[in-house]
Amino acid sequence: MIIGFTSSFPVEIIYAAGHKPVDLNNIFISGNAKKYVEDAEFEGYPRNICSWIKGMYSVVLSSHIDAVIGVVEGDCSNTQSLMATLKDKEIKIIPFSFSYNKNRQELEREISKLEKYFGVEHSQVLEVKERLDQIRKKLVYLDKLTYKESKVTGQENHLWLVNSSDFNGDPDDFENRLDQFVLEAENREPLKFNFRFGFLGVPPIISDLYDFLLKNGANVVFNEIQRQFAMPYLEEDLTQQYLKYTYPYSVFDRLEDIKTEIKKRKLDAVISYSQSFCHRQIDNILLKKYIDIPFLTIEGDQPGELDARTKLRIESFLDMLRY
Ligand code: SF4
Repeated sequence: MIIGFTSSFPVEIIYAAGHKPVDLNNIFISGNAKKYVEDAEFEGYPRNICSWIKGMYSVVLSSHIDAVIGVVEGDCSNTQSLMATLKDKEIKIIPFSFSYNKNRQELEREISKLEKYFGVEHSQVLEVKERLDQIRKKLVYLDKLTYKESKVTGQENHLWLVNSSDFNGDPDDFENRLDQFVLEAENREPLKFNFRFGFLGVPPIISDLYDFLLKNGANVVFNEIQRQFAMPYLEEDLTQQYLKYTYPYSVFDRLEDIKTEIKKRKLDAVISYSQSFCHRQIDNILLKKYIDIPFLTIEGDQPGELDARTKLRIESFLDMLRY
């Protein structure tokens, strides 16, 4: 069976059950994203709802997805309504929640509910975790090639880490391609750039942001949330892995991770990305308040390239850093 999901969750369970997990966000953004958004609006989804939600809705209706796991707590305030509209279209939906207060017992309960639903033993899930962790270790190395050796661009780093949410539905193939990429990157000359940037927030809906930054002398050497999707802490315990994963919890958990990485990666500045109509824009108030290096907020709405105004703002920010 093909199991779509709206945000990272213990994907190990789906693999253990012999099914194929598919991150709906990845299908949306790598496909005809504008059309997916338009289709959802044609069905009545409002203009002032985040494009990712509309994209996921259309992806499910136009693909062969057998069921959808909706992360209804710890991700997006819109997911419950997304699930309702999918249920109305007779799509099987399965809720999953990260508890707001990071309660271990509650998370264990959610994990075991999902294991029961898919008829798998916890030991089988742990075997899959061990397999996926072998690939995650390689992603940690790829990340080091980015921030320590400057051999990987921000865009490449973003793509590998963001796609590790579902390993493109085929971990063996993902690993083979990753091995080839790493080998190629190791043999490159280090990239030349003036500024080391961090990218904070949900992955961008803008297609050419990283390229534009690099052309203007800034490489992104820290992709905050994408790195979280890659579960970089390599915890032995499954529940602990999803408790350390910062994305579903409070912005203060994110800040702790961000501040550590700012120092470790010697960042010159950060770009904090906000998605239009996303409740997470509110978190930006606290990110801006507590991050003490140059900070630029940019906002993306529809899928596509950078607009002229955002380009100008980035150029002015880079000018400010230069002088
Ligand atoms: S960007 Fe924000 S509103 Fe959109 S799907 Fe993600 S969490 Fe939800």
